Amino acid sequence: MTKKILIINTGGTLSSVMEDSGLCPGLKTEDIAKELRMVSGDTDLEMMDLFSLDSANIFPEDWAKIAATIANVRDDYSGIVLIHGTDTMAYTASMLSFMLPNINIPVVLTGSQLSMANPVADAMENCRCAIHMASAGYPGIFLAFNRKVMLGCRASKTRSLSFDAFDSINYPYVARISSLGMKVQKDLIPGRRGTFHLCNQYSDKVFMLKMFPGIHRSVLKSLQEMGYKGLYIEAYGMGGMPFLKHDFIAELGKLIEGGMTVLVGTQCKYDGSSLRIYETGRRALASGVLEAYDMTSEAALTKLMWVLGRTSDQREIRDYFSVSLCNEVSIPE
Ligand code: ASP
Repeated sequence: MTKKILIINTGGTLSSVMEDSGLCPGLKTEDIAKELRMVSGDTDLEMMDLFSLDSANIFPEDWAKIAATIANVRDDYSGIVLIHGTDTMAYTASMLSFMLPNINIPVVLTGSQLSMANPVADAMENCRCAIHMASAGYPGIFLAFNRKVMLGCRASKTRSLSFDAFDSINYPYVARISSLGMKVQKDLIPGRRGTFHLCNQYSDKVFMLKMFPGIHRSVLKSLQEMGYKGLYIEAYGMGGMPFLKHDFIAELGKLIEGGMTVLVGTQCKYDGSSLRIYETGRRALASGVLEAYDMTSEAALTKLMWVLGRTSDQREIRDYFSVSLCNEVSIPE
């Protein structure tokens, strides 16, 4: 039976055109339908235009809308390809992994570094890979780019120009296309653990902070005064933070006592945090922070937004961060 795949367009470079104001999304799915059908093999493609946004303009409410749209149509298609700008695609892929637990079909995000209108673009190749993955029958949220497919919650944009723009962080690629065709590593794709439920609530009271030498602890108090409920810190190396000249960690402890959830990861792209090694990490743990381990910053931030959208109970929050929901994290024994 012919597989029916829905292409949902949200914008990005793939559908961009050069205007006087600069490169911006302008093509609709009907403008690119002919090209997409050239790479769709024997699948039947249907098109939907949801937004036409440079992904720098994507906000959390857009994630909720994308998730609700997918939830509504998921029984009508064998798979969905979501065309998205590359700049924030890893954030969207991570958040959809939390908002669409146990989805029954493949949802594959893709985009490109050059517009479909450009004859040397990577757009067709990426769409070919995404459509192929969407029709391969493995449910879940994926990101396809440069002939590689990764779990959505492990993807990160690591290069701004290269066609090889995304890496799968701390987790192997789940599929690759080579001259032997597409090889999917089924054992790397998390199985469904229950029935699907749309869970698209989130908290927008979450802040992300990158540690740097000279950071002043007063910034923490300001966040509290501004009403933030969650803070994700990209700390140094294995997750260290200062406690000498400015006792940043002591100030964090006060924040946590006041009800803020603080999640600590690392600004290193690879290998994740290990807060138990150094004093600069152990002190942070003792002050009550949660650890992000090997999550990408995109997954850590969106998981925090998602968890705080579901509960404000400190024990439940801690429980969510002690488990992996969709293979976004490996928690050491
Ligand atoms: N600025 C674009 C976007 O993220 C970049 C791209 O799609 O490659 O929408």
